[in-house]
Parts: sequence; C-alpha cells; structure tokens
Amino acid sequence: MPSRIVIVGAGQAATQAATSLRAGGYDGHLVLLGNEGLLPYQRPPLSKAYLSGAMGLDRVVLKPMEAWIEDKVDVHLDAEVTALDRQAKSVTTRDGQTIGYDALILATGSRVRALACPGADLRGVHYLRSIADADGLGQDMQPGKRLVVIGGGYIGLEVAAVARKAGLEVVILEAAPRVLARVAPPVISDFFQTLHHDAGVTILTDVKVTAIEGADCVAGVALADSRTIPADLVLVGIGIIPNAELARAAGLKAEDGIETDVDARTSDPAIFAIGDCASRPLVHYGQRRGRLESVHNALEQAKLAAAAIMGLPRPVEETPWFWSDQYDIKLQIAGLSTGAAHSVVRGDPSQKRFAVFHLDADNRLLAVDAINAPPEFIVGKQVIARHGQLAPARLADMSVSMKEIGAGV
Ligand SMILES: Cc1cc2nc3c(=O)[nH]c(=O)nc-3n(C[C@H](O)[C@H](O)[C@H](O)COP(=O)(O)OP(=O)(O)OC[C@H]3O[C@@H](n4cnc5c(N)ncnc54)[C@H](O)[C@@H]3O)c2cc1C
Repeated sequence: MPSRIVIVGAGQAATQAATSLRAGGYDGHLVLLGNEGLLPYQRPPLSKAYLSGAMGLDRVVLKPMEAWIEDKVDVHLDAEVTALDRQAKSVTTRDGQTIGYDALILATGSRVRALACPGADLRGVHYLRSIADADGLGQDMQPGKRLVVIGGGYIGLEVAAVARKAGLEVVILEAAPRVLARVAPPVISDFFQTLHHDAGVTILTDVKVTAIEGADCVAGVALADSRTIPADLVLVGIGIIPNAELARAAGLKAEDGIETDVDARTSDPAIFAIGDCASRPLVHYGQRRGRLESVHNALEQAKLAAAAIMGLPRPVEETPWFWSDQYDIKLQIAGLSTGAAHSVVRGDPSQKRFAVFHLDADNRLLAVDAINAPPEFIVGKQVIARHGQLAPARLADMSVSMKEIGAGV
C-alpha cells in the first residue's frame, strides 16, 4: 500500500477517488491539490439549476470541509501543480511547494476551447466551466437582454433554455448543419431544434462566426455571410481541451488525453489519470479507446484507480451514460452510437417522449438516446452492457413493454 497518495485536481473525479480510497480502507496520507479557491464542486448544475438560481452554492459543492477533515484528506486549495518529476516521485505547486508521492492520481479535468476571432476578449463574452464563470454569466443574464450562444452543443442549448426562461432574447449559432451534430443523431437534433424554436429561440445553422463586434463591450456577432447578429452578451460553448500538459511534459503517453489502461493506470505504473483528462479503453466497444466527458466517467475511473491502488478487485464497468436537462425535457443517453449501422425510433417525438436505439449490423445494441423515457434508458443501458441483440420491429412496437424487450436478452 502506498504511504502517500497525491491527487492533482479537485473536481468530480478527484473527490470520488479520495472517497473510494477511504471507503476501501486506505489509511495512509491522502493529499488533494486543486487550483481553484473553492472546495470541489459538481459542474452539471452550472448550466442548469445553479444558473437559473434554483440551486444554491451549498448544494453544488460536493462535500463540506468537515467531511474532508473527517476523511483525513489534506485539501490544498489555490494550489496549482506546475511540475511533475517522475524520477523523484514528486509534484511542485506554483508557489514552490514540492510534495512527494508513492502513488499519484491526475484528475485535472479539461478547459474550454477559446474562440479565436477578433473581439473574442470583449466584455460580455462568456465561457462556462467554473462557478466563477456561471456567476459572471448569471449576472449579465438580465430579462430583455439579447444573448447569442456560439455553439449548439449541450452546454449552449442548456444555457439557451435557462436564458429563455429568464426572459432573454436568444439566438444560437451553430457551424454544423444541425445542433448536437457531434453527439446525437438527426432525429434528436431535430427534436431539440423544434423544442427551442417553440420556446422562442432562433437557431442559425451552417454559420461561421468571423468576429465579435463592439467598442469595449459586445454589441453583435459578425458572420461570414456578412450578417451581424445584435447581442448584449455572448456565451461560447465550442468544446473542451483535456488538461494533459503536465502529464505530457513528464513523458507520459498523452495525445487526446492522458492514456490509461483498464485500471486507469498511465504508462507510469505509479501514476493514474481519471475523468475528463484521461483517454481510456472503452470496454464495451472492443479495441476502441476514447475520452468521455461525463460525470459517470469521472466517478467510474476514480473507483477503478482507487481499487487498483489498493489491490482490490476491479469494479465492474457500467455502460457509459450522460444526461441533459432543457426546459421540461430530460435527455438520457446510454452507450456510444459511433459505429452503429442503423437506428430504431420508439415512441413519438411530437409527444415529447421517445427513444432512439442505435444498433450494429447484427442488431446488437450500442446506444440509446431517451427523451423523457426512463424505461427505455434503463433497459437499453442493461442490454448494451450484455452486448444484447434486439429485434428492430419489436423495439419499435410500443405495445411491447421495455421490460418484455429486455427480458432474456
Ligand atoms: C457547464 C457544464 C455542464 C455539464 N453538464 C453535464 C451533465 O449534464 N452530465 C454529465 O455527465 N456531465 C456534465 N458535464 C461534464 C462533467 O461536469 C465533467 O465531465 C466532470 O466534471 C469531469 O470531472 P473531472 O474531475 O475530470 O474534472 P473537473 O470536475 O473539471 O475537475 C478538475 C479540477 O482540476 C483542476 N486542475 C486542473 N489542472 C490543475 C493543476 N495543474 N493543479 C491543480 N488543479 C488543477 C481544475 O481547475 C478543476 O477544478 C458538464 C460540464 C460543464 C462545465
């Protein structure tokens, strides 16, 4: 058992790793180094209930200081790790503190991809990753203001929904031919486009932003087709970049994320990488590896790393899953649809309750996107884990329950 475990990063994955280590019986020295000034918190509410004001900071923070003290975790806030010395087995913080480790967990997360165009640094241009970002955006989101969202991904759409409900005028600009193009099939994109349209949001697809206009504050967003969309504030949601530089500089394998094995171990056996910063084998999908940007992934990899460090049996890996909340809609996704040969729609999108099942050429279920449809999500997730095959006609038949469909698969 390592006598000191150091965790770099203090977010969702780091918190779970510390919790799992203590729950699994690790009683050595546990150090958490985070570069933010706040105790670890969850990010999903930042584009949902926290932004709308329905959830306070106390519920966003993952656990209070007393719980960290009780767990005997040495939490250092405002402690950015700037160097990793694998020979000396130590990390160094920006303020010059060097801390040795026997096992190291990198849980550095990711950062927002920045907009690279003139005017991108004008006042009123927002990103959304941290509580500070959410607070800044929330302050600017006053009723009647004109918000332009650049990027029709989940974060952009969720912020659009909150803003619309708060009485802002909202325009979403998307470079691809449809929103959610990278992460969802056309039927789901169409559904969300209609949903936002009906709520009064304008969505422009196939558009390229060339500049943010304004003197010292945002006044509009210029497009390549020479239109300018008037704006009082802008939210940029165009993706994230894994924080893998520390690992890369120390010679660890890291292209799109820090590469790990099934135990979340990197190319250095004493170092683990978990959460948004890590690229992992996708056990339900053959030889594929990838980086998943979700709470479930952060929690699962944390548990894998903790078990591996303590020499405990590897926890069984679940089907990857994700969710998004917009207006009165809950989207739940299980699995990964890339590589699917065809898909089956079950239910009626116009009723705001349906699911899209993605199957391979042998009708093996790879993924499901469920709109206000928990049984489809739950059963689909189980079938994916079992590499189960489903008959398309039966799947589309709403008179056959999901319980029946899942039975015996
Ligand atoms: C607005 C928003 C909404 C989201 N909604 C959903 C959702 O609905 N469902 C879902 O599944 N996922 C959602 N996600 C994604 C989810 O929050 C992330 O996948 C998850 O937080 C990843 O956890 P993590 O621990 O890897 O990274 P983080 O939670 O980002 O934690 C990493 C921490 O490490 C710190 N750090 C980085 N470098 C260093 C360093 N060198 N030294 C010290 N500290 C460092 C970072 O500042 C950060 O505090 C959302 C994310 C955002 C931003």
